[in-house]
Amino acid sequence: MIYLDHAATTPLDLSVEELMRPFGREVYGNPSSAHGAGRRARFAIDEARDRVADQLNARAAEIIFTSGGTEADNLALFGVARAMRTRGQHIITTAIEHHAVLSSCAALEREGFQVSYLRPAGDGLLAPAQVEAAITPQTILVSVSYANNEVGVVQPIAKIGCLCRERKVLFHSDAVQAAGELSLSVQELQVDLLSLSAHKIYGPKGVGALYVRAGTRMQPVCYGGGQEHERRAGTENVAGIIGLACALERAQDPTEISRQRQLREMLIEGVLAISGSRLHGNRIQRLAGNVNIGFAGVPGETLQLALDLEGIACSTGAACAAGAATPSHVLMAMGYTRTQAQEALRLTLGRGTTSEEIRQTIATLTTLVSGLRKRGAS
Ligand code: PMP
Repeated sequence: MIYLDHAATTPLDLSVEELMRPFGREVYGNPSSAHGAGRRARFAIDEARDRVADQLNARAAEIIFTSGGTEADNLALFGVARAMRTRGQHIITTAIEHHAVLSSCAALEREGFQVSYLRPAGDGLLAPAQVEAAITPQTILVSVSYANNEVGVVQPIAKIGCLCRERKVLFHSDAVQAAGELSLSVQELQVDLLSLSAHKIYGPKGVGALYVRAGTRMQPVCYGGGQEHERRAGTENVAGIIGLACALERAQDPTEISRQRQLREMLIEGVLAISGSRLHGNRIQRLAGNVNIGFAGVPGETLQLALDLEGIACSTGAACAAGAATPSHVLMAMGYTRTQAQEALRLTLGRGTTSEEIRQTIATLTTLVSGLRKRGAS
């Protein structure tokens, strides 16, 4: 199989898996237990928290472990909105966020909050001035993802962070797709909240983290025990937390990132040589491994299934939206028509991707696209 769906998830790194192993049968105590077995687990979590904080240029007490990126986004949005309700009820986000943010915002609207959904330019980029213009005295929170999960476009987070700080509005960024490639320094980015997920960076599934700047008012979303400084109840996923810390430390590798960028360019060139093809999203301000394309007259879903039969795994957009009848909300917000949005195909490269695989993918795509067009792509 040629796996080109790394934005959906990545395989677990072998060394990460090995470091997680003792936390199943050997160090199995409940981190909240007062005995030695519990203390060993607690110590391991504390150490992992220090290491995650180091990667973010943050303090350990500012890291909350969660069950993944979705929960981190939910906690950021509901937690801050509900705690800040008396200060204001306006939230700003973008129309191209992941559903973990968009569906949370929709639920907050049902609770009486007003949400502004900013639309990016045709290349997927948001201008900081758009955020500035949308801020009102009622605005309590701005949430803009660092890198888009469908088109890989990287937003000017530090600039948006700077202006939010000037206007005294809290700023959250979903960095789930950016982690492993872009700087996660919360000081540089000037974010107050930042979401992470381990399984996109060769870590385990079902674990993530939310950075919350010290002093930020936030209500829990999940009530129960006093874990995570009373902000996220529930017995900790010890092995997962160790895996997240290890994966994050191993993620940033400039040589690997430039290797993927070269392969991405090779793939883009090969795809754009096919007639009636187009690249979605800014070519420069995009993740090293992301290629999102469309072929006029060929539905993305048909092409994805045909590629699957040829042993190439990719997607039409977000994995969470696979099979959804509605076309990509990201491409629609970027100004593409419904038909064009339905033609989208996302190929995302990773550590295991080789130039031979890219060559094979280009050749297969070329054959399939012309074959499907001849058959009317029905
Ligand atoms: N945000 C973004 C940008 C994502 O790509 C994803 C994963 N599709 C999530 C949030 C959700 O993360 P998780 O799968 O860990 O819940």
